[in-house]
Amino acid sequence: MATHPVTHPIVEIAVPCPLRRSFDYLWPEDCPQPPVAGQRVEIPFGNRHLVGIVLSEKSASDINTAKLKAVIQPLDAEPSLSEAQLKLGQWAAKYYHHPIGDCLQQMLPVSLRKTGNSEPREQAVSCWRLHPDWQQHLPSSRAHQQHALLEAFATAPEHTLSMKQVNTLGFSRPLLRELLKRELLIPAPALAPATLSPESPPELNAEQASAVAAVRDSLGQFRRFLLDGITGSGKTEVYLQLIAHCLQAGRQALVLVPEIGLTPQTLQRFERRFPGQIASLHSGLSDSERLRSWQAARSGERAVLLGTRSAVLAELPKLGLIIVDEEHDPSYKQQDGWRYSARDIAVKRAADLSCPVLLASATPSLDSLFNVKQQRYHLLKLQQRAGSAKPPSVRLVDIRHQSLHEGLSDTLLSRIDRTLNAGQQALVFLNRRGFAPTLQCHSCGWIAHCNACDARMTVHFRRRELRCHHCDARAPLPPKCPDCGDSHWLFDGPGTERLELALKSRFADTTIHRIDRDTTRGQGDIQRVVNAIKDGQPSILIGTQMLAKGHHFPNVTLVGIVDMDAGLFSADFRAVERCGQLLMQVAGRAGRAELPGEVLIQTHCPEHPALLSLIHQGYGAFAQQQLQERETLGLPPFAHSAVIRSDAVKLQVAEDFLEQLRQRLYLEHPDWQQIGPLPAPMARRAGRYRCSLILQSPNRVLLHRQLGLAAHYGEQLKKTGGLRWSIDVDPIELF
Ligand code: ADP
Ligand code: ZN
Ligand code: ZN
Repeated sequence: MATHPVTHPIVEIAVPCPLRRSFDYLWPEDCPQPPVAGQRVEIPFGNRHLVGIVLSEKSASDINTAKLKAVIQPLDAEPSLSEAQLKLGQWAAKYYHHPIGDCLQQMLPVSLRKTGNSEPREQAVSCWRLHPDWQQHLPSSRAHQQHALLEAFATAPEHTLSMKQVNTLGFSRPLLRELLKRELLIPAPALAPATLSPESPPELNAEQASAVAAVRDSLGQFRRFLLDGITGSGKTEVYLQLIAHCLQAGRQALVLVPEIGLTPQTLQRFERRFPGQIASLHSGLSDSERLRSWQAARSGERAVLLGTRSAVLAELPKLGLIIVDEEHDPSYKQQDGWRYSARDIAVKRAADLSCPVLLASATPSLDSLFNVKQQRYHLLKLQQRAGSAKPPSVRLVDIRHQSLHEGLSDTLLSRIDRTLNAGQQALVFLNRRGFAPTLQCHSCGWIAHCNACDARMTVHFRRRELRCHHCDARAPLPPKCPDCGDSHWLFDGPGTERLELALKSRFADTTIHRIDRDTTRGQGDIQRVVNAIKDGQPSILIGTQMLAKGHHFPNVTLVGIVDMDAGLFSADFRAVERCGQLLMQVAGRAGRAELPGEVLIQTHCPEHPALLSLIHQGYGAFAQQQLQERETLGLPPFAHSAVIRSDAVKLQVAEDFLEQLRQRLYLEHPDWQQIGPLPAPMARRAGRYRCSLILQSPNRVLLHRQLGLAAHYGEQLKKTGGLRWSIDVDPIELF
């Protein structure tokens, strides 16, 4: 053994593993460059090689250096994570009581999480333009897809689209090749951003102007705003003009949108205003496209990053403004692994960077409204619809004792009829896919259950299948009852597939569009239906919440809500809030242009106070009432909460783990507030039993102290029977 001190440094590394700590390694002796914080390195861990992130260089380790393993090789010349990102990741690991290695890994695009080829392959950017004589060589009129793509080219600036744009619009490469084969397209040089002139902005109305002025005057300072503006009141226009101010000041902007909010239309709207300056991050992109967007934001090459949840983790070195659209949307909360809230991280980033953050919604979350009350957030309001549109009239249809036709009341059906006769469109909303949520034997009462969940199977009639919407198990529709052998089936309850059939038989000459996860797979499918609807022909739209936001359908004047009652009676205290938000979002689809809109809500509980206040007094009053209720009950946002969850193949194992944890915590703090451990209302899902231990405290610091202990004990406790557990800080669901 050498007696002189070790000359190569010790590095502290964040390793993607389930432990809430970092690990010390030796820097390779033969490596000429010193370690840099944020750099990715390949390391041995157990019997695997993983990608870790250098946190710092150390002069000494608590562990005998002779026992330390060495880094295999650095993977970056320049660090992949900036200092600001490291700081954010370290804060988040602490706040969410989640392993730092996993947090930092999630801040990297997928292509940088693996060892091996780390440098992105630069793909040749190819662009095509419509052949000057394209209209003389149209494909057969039945080639709908080809026509749709041609249409996209015809409406693009200079009839030119890049491969990337074609993809974003949901068209496939083979389809493009078809058009190339027919010589309908010719190769074109990429449009230089400068050749595209930005669309000029409209004159703002007074409310919009004062919202823009308030945020603009705060550029360069940390200030939190809540923009409360009804659907169609021009919030997006406010974002666009604020971004323009931000870019003028030489800064970048980050815009977060919910999972289903980032439609091609939204992207195009931003692109038209800021040609060549938008980078986007969403689930429709390939890994290499995501990497390119991530790098474009990070290098400053693109000034605006528009993206869904994880975009909040991307680096923008000159970030000067953060906007969170539809801030109430649950998709901002990651629901597995590291359960972060992109909205809350956005606020934290704005604080770190001293820049304004604008949270916006037509139906603000109770959390944000509470923050307004506490004068932490500055409230901005848009109460008029932009242009000439009027808000729709909303009323309840009491369906108790009424005869229903596949879930639809006479009242709703006759309104649909009237709407179609007036040459307008009707939207029927039901947040349940499939044909019927229950299959029952009429002879003996047998019900089709999922083998792996405590849940019923949903009938998907057209595919002759039973499907579990919780674990995605599938089985063929049984020809006979497995219990009694009869084949007299009852299909109980409506689903979108069933509504479609019912409406088709009643309105035989009317076009019906169904939008749900079964009918629309990619952005391209959605885009095609949306384009067809925008044609404005009288038609009926049926949809789940996929239809609830992001789309403007000027000719929809009637919205019928088939069933929302379940949301009013859920075990989860947030369900009513969610139900109110969804209802308003769907209602907001009606009457967006010159035509006035009407919303009918079918219900079995027309006296429900929440429903009544929502309808008669509006979302604002509804939300204040909900807040009061939460205050009386001491629930969030009046208390801070966290859920520790466990799951295992045996219920006992899941329960025991949380019970042991509870007892340990109780010994430390006999006076803490906890509920449980409780099995989830649907205890078994995908073959595993799930339990929750709910912690609550009016004091955030105390809660976090307890969570720190819980994390510590949780890691120490022996885990048997395939037990998994997790901590969820600021949960949006309890189970
Ligand atoms: P929101 O984001 O609140 O739903 P948008 O910004 O999409 O509202 O505005 C709704 C419609 O009104 C859009 O078609 C938009 O182009 C138009 N619009 C918004 N602001 C103005 C304005 N100041 N003048 C004219 N049209 C506007
Ligand atoms: Zn039977
Ligand atoms: Zn299941």
